[in-house]
Amino acid sequence: MLSVKEAKAVLFGQIGQMPAVSMKVADAQGYILAEDVYSALDLPSFDHSAMDGFAVCVENFQEAEQLIDMPLIGEIRAGGKPVECIEKNTAIGIFTGAPVPKNANCIVIQEKAERKGKRLIFHSSELKPHANIRKRGAQIKAGEKAMSAGMLLNPAAIGWLSALGITSIRVVARPLVSVLATGNELKKPGIPLGAGQIYESNTFALKAALNRDNFRTAAVKSVPDQPKKTYDTIKKMLWSSDVVIISGGISVGKYDLVKDTLFSLGVEQVFYKVAQKPGKPLFAGKYLHSTSPKWVFALPGNPAAALVCFYEYVLPVLKKLSGFSDISLRSAMLPLADEFVVKGDRELFLRAYATNDVVKILEGQESNMMHSFAASNAIVFLPVSTTPLEKGTLVETHFLP
Ligand code: AMP
Ligand code: MG
Repeated sequence: MLSVKEAKAVLFGQIGQMPAVSMKVADAQGYILAEDVYSALDLPSFDHSAMDGFAVCVENFQEAEQLIDMPLIGEIRAGGKPVECIEKNTAIGIFTGAPVPKNANCIVIQEKAERKGKRLIFHSSELKPHANIRKRGAQIKAGEKAMSAGMLLNPAAIGWLSALGITSIRVVARPLVSVLATGNELKKPGIPLGAGQIYESNTFALKAALNRDNFRTAAVKSVPDQPKKTYDTIKKMLWSSDVVIISGGISVGKYDLVKDTLFSLGVEQVFYKVAQKPGKPLFAGKYLHSTSPKWVFALPGNPAAALVCFYEYVLPVLKKLSGFSDISLRSAMLPLADEFVVKGDRELFLRAYATNDVVKILEGQESNMMHSFAASNAIVFLPVSTTPLEKGTLVETHFLP
């Protein structure tokens, strides 16, 4: 059986990027840039005022400490008509964002000057060369690179590209995902339960986790443990999506049909079973009957196992397909809040709650238990250990998104 590290390496090593597509900048939040972007403009594209105040043209900045009194002529507003030049030793009112006259060499801020009719009075210490003038091209010059391929289009990036007047860019496409729950016992929440039935919850958790990271779903379905229904549904999902996530039916029981169904559909195994708890019967596969491979994950049905496998294996794959370079959950070594006794011979993913200083492993680690998962904000990954881990031991903590 593969270790966690081996399973991740064999899987992530095979995943490439989705093709590049054109997208409106306004819609590109969360995508990864597929190409370098260059500015067509100088930004700022004209010298402008950083403050509300008065533009002045002074001949000598070295003057001794004194009160300065100069004529004040008119004003320049943001978006208003520029004033080309002002006379020497003259001030003109100016507002934030307004174009600065060519020969103005300082902006005295409004709070530091007193206006007396058509004159302006301020202290000479307010005169500093080029103070409060934002020069043309200080942020970027036409032809310079504004962003590099591989960068995340976060809200700031959307603002930045828009400020450059760019409306359309090339981004890495994001995979379309389908989710399938299998099991005769599953009922949709909201319908009364019959004997032996349970509420189907995995598709809800998985859909929410996909939404959280802006992955769209092509289909979300549930099927009984019935070969034809399972086959037909997975077949459709393989055609309509880039990644198929299945829950349940992947263990060794007589009614666990998923693995054989996947093989009969032509899905190739990347790995089956990982020496981990929860989530031992995890299956990863690839389907090559199209231009780019599609990826199939069969997660164990137990809800906590399914979600751990999603966060540790599926989400990184979705991110890698989407062009991210940091694909795994953000992680840090944090000290354990309490002693922890590791049992068994499999590596552990433990639901935990992390603060800035410590991480607490929560009660309720059975693979079906979701109350602990609902209260957690992290997963602690522990190697096999024969000795108890003392309080304060540094452990690998993966932060949930
Ligand atoms: P399986 O992997 O199909 O053997 O299922 C393992 C356990 O998880 C069983 O107790 C199932 O009833 C439960 N289970 C399977 N699928 C789901 C689901 N979609 N929602 C909630 N529980 C599930
Ligand atoms: Mg089942």
